[in-house]
Amino acid sequence: MDYSELLDATIDHLEEQQARGQRYVDVADATLEALNRPVHSPEAPARQQNTERERPGATRPSSRVGFQPAPVPPPEVPKVDLFVYDRSKPLSREEKENAMADLRSRAMQCVKCDQLVRSRQNVVFGVGNIHTDLMFIGEAPGMDEDQAGEPFVGKAGQLLNKVLQTMGLQRENIYIGNVLKCRPDTPGQRYGNRKPTPTEMNTCLPYLQAQIDIIRPKVIVCLGGTAVEGLFGKAQTGIMKLRGNWMTFRDIPTMPTYHPSYLLRNQAITEKRKLWEDMLQVMERLEISVTDKHRGFFLKG
Ligand code: URA
Repeated sequence: MDYSELLDATIDHLEEQQARGQRYVDVADATLEALNRPVHSPEAPARQQNTERERPGATRPSSRVGFQPAPVPPPEVPKVDLFVYDRSKPLSREEKENAMADLRSRAMQCVKCDQLVRSRQNVVFGVGNIHTDLMFIGEAPGMDEDQAGEPFVGKAGQLLNKVLQTMGLQRENIYIGNVLKCRPDTPGQRYGNRKPTPTEMNTCLPYLQAQIDIIRPKVIVCLGGTAVEGLFGKAQTGIMKLRGNWMTFRDIPTMPTYHPSYLLRNQAITEKRKLWEDMLQVMERLEISVTDKHRGFFLKG
């Protein structure tokens, strides 16, 4: 088994355990330290990546490549959270900050999608205030975001900033993330973007779910149909019909609206107004004061 197969098997196993409700795995200190080291070579020794249960002083059979749990769980080894945060318990500011820093460092080293690892310049984790009530979710980084390591810094991002400004908000006070943390590769092309595949979105989704579980915003805004698909799976209807209607993701009211790129392509005031009406609903939900001036935006050109 080569390194990437072993890593994939490990990730699959951990995700299975997580889906069954397991919150922790036992990991020896030495293994934890090895896991936290950046991966430099795709052929890094497989033994560094072993996350099976280990007992101090225990010998590991060399032929063992499966991940059967050890019969007796060792009591004294540290616990590693598998991106599962108990949503019934409030997190203190410090707990949120630590959890997000830990999640970020894991995402920054992610090598789950071979093709994206090879083509990316940066993992684009997310930006903003993790103590916010409002989280915006886009599709995936484009070229500008890949270069900058920050979501929504290109033309679409500039338009998003204007929308926020019109709402009386500042980018630094909300959180912005994407369904996919790496730019979808476009082999043979330097420019252009492509939609993430369902496999890429599913592979990356645990990071976004964890970001949401840590931040626990009061409202999520999904920018565009792909963001909706990333969170909820493929819908029967497109964003034109979905937008403006509240959905619920992990108990959080979620407003689907247009992606700013759509409004860059279609500058009709009627389309701007639709996005704006969605934002008025978001403001009302968050009890942000909505003035008559706010209500009148984008009614006439
Ligand atoms: N479009 C997105 O969906 N996300 C970004 O970060 C940039 C553009």
